[in-house]
Order: sequence, then structure tokens, then C-alpha cells
Amino acid sequence: MSSIVLFGPPGAGKGTQAERIMEATGLPQVSTGDMLRAAVKAGTETGLTAKGYMESGQLVPDGVIIDLIKDRILEPDAKNGVMFDGFPRTIPQAEALAEITPVTHVIAIEVPDERIVERICGRYSCAGCGSVYHDTFNPVNADGCSCGQWEEKRRADDNEETVHSRLGAYHEQTSPLADWYRSKGIFHSVNGDRAIDTITADIFVVLNS
Ligand code: ADP
Ligand code: ADP
Repeated sequence: MSSIVLFGPPGAGKGTQAERIMEATGLPQVSTGDMLRAAVKAGTETGLTAKGYMESGQLVPDGVIIDLIKDRILEPDAKNGVMFDGFPRTIPQAEALAEITPVTHVIAIEVPDERIVERICGRYSCAGCGSVYHDTFNPVNADGCSCGQWEEKRRADDNEETVHSRLGAYHEQTSPLADWYRSKGIFHSVNGDRAIDTITADIFVVLNS
């Protein structure tokens, strides 16, 4: 059993690449952002705690996130490992993960800050299947998503004001993790400021090396 971490700033393309890696490897995508949004929608205790942090672009407390991951990793589809998307985001989260399951590759998708606002403000997804699209860079087909259940969904926190706090949280709390993982010899960086397919190809070079 071995897991992969997709690392990078908000809007770097982690979810977009996760869809493709999932198709090719069969590893389930574990997105703490998606799990938290589901908890908010369901009105659970976790959702009630997380909501304010998410709306203001701050990180949700580590204890809440670690509890979510501990439960998720016990589900049957996680038995051969998973692909983490947006987790871990702090050193305490990474330390907890090291106790929960082994990680073989941390793949950082590098995108400069000045690209992030346009990426996030143009993002939408299919409510039916979760596929991620972009107004300019990756629009859905004229007849909708190939899943056949097309319904456009936009996130409440994908606005210019929140993007700046999310980027601030990334630089202060998440980016120190790069050195932490580098010191473990499992950190790989790919240039995320290129075409989606080119980045996918680079990720597979890393995963197959
Ligand atoms: P993350 O999961 O890292 O927050 P997403 O995968 O949701 O990022 O991507 C953010 C937005 O940028 C989406 O609208 C997506 O369609 C778009 N996007 C993803 N990768 C690229 C790329 N290489 N070039 C241009 N736009 C991209
Ligand atoms: P993005 O990749 O666009 O930043 P996510 O869906 O990963 O979006 O996260 C949305 C929000 O959920 C974050 O701004 C944060 O409030 C919260 N969140 C998600 N994952 C974590 C995590 N691992 N630790 C703390 N907060 C998280």
C-alpha cells in the first residue's frame, strides 16, 4: 500500500491532474476540500466548524482534518493507497499522515501567484461527476459534460478576495512542507504553468521513475 500527495497552491491544477491519475492508476482521489464541502452541505459538526474558515480562506484546524483522514483511510477503496489532493497542508498534518499511511511521491505543481487569480475566478465544475473546467482554459463541451449529468457548479470561495487569503495561507503554512518532504527524498516538482496534457505527462514520468 502506498499513497501519492498532490501538492501546490490553490488553483494549481491538483484536482484536474488527480482526475487523470485516478483514471490511469485506479487510486482514489482524497480531497480534503471536497470532504469539507460535503460536510458543510450535510450540516455535520465538522461542517459547522469548517464553514467560517473556508469562507474566509483560512485553513481549517489540523485536528479536524486529521480526524477526517483517519476515517477515510479505513474505507475499503483505500486499501491499496490513495491520491491526496490538498492534504497535507501543514507540518502537523504531514507528521500525522506519516503515522497513518506511507507516501511514496509528493508531486508539487508549481504555478506563479499571478496566474492563480485567473485560474480560480474562472473555475467551475460538473455537479454530476465533479470534473473541473475553466471559462477560458478548459471549457466544457457545448452539449455539457461527458458524464451525461451536466450541471454547472461554482464554489462560494472562488472569488478574488478569498483567493488572496488562501494564497497567504499557502505561503505561510503550506509551502514550508516542501522542504520537509524534500528532506525525506520523495519531493518532485513539475511546472504547472503549461498545457494540462503536458503536465500530466510529466507527472507520469515522475510516478514511473
Ligand atoms: P486545484 O485543485 O489545485 O485547486 P484545479 O484543478 O481545480 O486546481 O484547477 C483550477 C482551475 O484552473 C480550473 O478551472 C482548471 O480547469 C484550471 N486549470 C487546471 N490546470 C490548468 C492548466 N494547466 N492550464 C490552465 N488552466 C488550468
Ligand atoms: P483549493 O485547492 O482551491 O485551495 P480546496 O478545495 O483544497 O481548495 O480547499 C478549500 C478550503 O478548504 C481551503 O481554503 C481550506 O479552508 C479548507 N481545507 C481544505 N483542505 C484543507 C487542509 N488539508 N487543511 C486545512 N484546511 C483545508
